Amino acid sequence: MTLVQETPFRFRIERQGPMRVPGVVFAARELVPQVAGDKALEQVANVATLPGIVRASYAMPDVHWGYGFPIGGVAATDVEAGGVISPGGVGFDISCGVRLLAAGMDRDPPASGMRRLMDILGDTVPRGLGPGGLWELSGRAQLEKILVAGAGYAVEHGHGVPRDLERCEDRGALAGADPSQVGQRAADRGLKQVGSLGSANHFLEVQAVDRVYDAETATAFGLHQGQVCVMIHCGSRGLGHQVCTDHVRVMDQSLRAYGIHLPDRQLACVPVVSPPGRAYLGAMAAAANYARANRQLLTQAARRAFAAAGVGLDLVYDVSHNIAKIESHDVDGVSRQLCVHRKGATRALPPGHPDLPADLTRAGQPVMVPGTMGTASYVMVGTVGNDAFWSSAHGAGRVWSRHQALRRVRGEQLGGELEAHGIAVRPVSWRALAEEAPDAYKDVDAVATATEGAGLARRVVRLVPLGVVKG
Ligand code: 5GP
Ligand code: MN
Ligand code: MN
Repeated sequence: MTLVQETPFRFRIERQGPMRVPGVVFAARELVPQVAGDKALEQVANVATLPGIVRASYAMPDVHWGYGFPIGGVAATDVEAGGVISPGGVGFDISCGVRLLAAGMDRDPPASGMRRLMDILGDTVPRGLGPGGLWELSGRAQLEKILVAGAGYAVEHGHGVPRDLERCEDRGALAGADPSQVGQRAADRGLKQVGSLGSANHFLEVQAVDRVYDAETATAFGLHQGQVCVMIHCGSRGLGHQVCTDHVRVMDQSLRAYGIHLPDRQLACVPVVSPPGRAYLGAMAAAANYARANRQLLTQAARRAFAAAGVGLDLVYDVSHNIAKIESHDVDGVSRQLCVHRKGATRALPPGHPDLPADLTRAGQPVMVPGTMGTASYVMVGTVGNDAFWSSAHGAGRVWSRHQALRRVRGEQLGGELEAHGIAVRPVSWRALAEEAPDAYKDVDAVATATEGAGLARRVVRLVPLGVVKG
């Protein structure tokens, strides 16, 4: 594989063999060996072979190995030119994403107050594997309402305020959801998990703004130096996972019928406009809406905990980083309908984009880049220079597998170290904490610098952790 450096933050994988387009890797030179080490680059090249792919197979600065597609991968296919949809390009945790809440409170609450807040959050936020959620549904009929209306259905039932929806991507519900494509097993898993974090990489973190890079945009986002925030990272739980599993199986069996040849079976895909393609998109949208309702419920749990201290929480933004969406983009001067897969990548709309909430049109879309529970996280903003279909990094990105992390880190010791640094941890188990050790991830500061250097998004504020509830 030939990797050519085009700019300090952009590398090209030359087209070769069955690749239809080149690969483009946004990274600084020091991040590239980590990317190459886990076969992520090979996956970027594999994605470039997909039928109908346009422009390039992209990798964000946090890219690492994933199921079929790399995590941190972006690929757009032309819907009217045989372009495919691939569940592996969305991921198992459909519409996993991040929402950021701004608290009406500044940093340095008394330590005892912070401990109490973390205790309430630790006691009231359902997490870990298996069932248990904040909202007990009456049955499949009610579940289907969530699958169609997402966060909107939650707000309608008193779980939030109408302004929350203004600050959600797609106003909290992705169009085109088809609950009839969500199997019974997926629905059964979903019934008992609305309003739950899930396992270890998911979290609810109390943070403080410790640096402002762009005061005007920060103000537009409702953020200022010293402000306390809450970041929530979770997805569609067992329902999304089951939807992915079920539809991958169907697609895997359909490859031959559509004459699709792939370098890796995990890239299983079908044309967007085919019956199995439509079925998956309908099920995926339903799972995405479940994820949005899920984050809405967890927001309410955070609000109840903060309300005990008389503090309110306003939604800054909610955005998915595991999703495929049908979007119009300019390709070689022509507007095309594309199926944009963002897997471990965040949409990053630039200022002036029509899909932005009215009060963010001038500023651009908030782009959340969580780091780790022991380091910083960033809020960035979309920029006009972005040529990766308005996509950006979604986190620091793993460098160690969970296995490797477990071999190298003792959870109990890590917990002690974090507490010694003033970060209150409420883990579900020491083992789960060890898997998510800060050392298991890339340097988020380097990822944010590369993201900005590559023109994908600009830094607005840096957040540091005060306390974390881990799945
Ligand atoms: P993913 O969706 O790929 O599982 O995770 C997204 C990103 O979240 C990871 O790349 C990592 O940088 C970040 N992350 C994982 N755990 C934590 C945490 O406890 N706190 C913060 N702030 N970020 C985390
Ligand atoms: Mn997830
Ligand atoms: Mn995620």
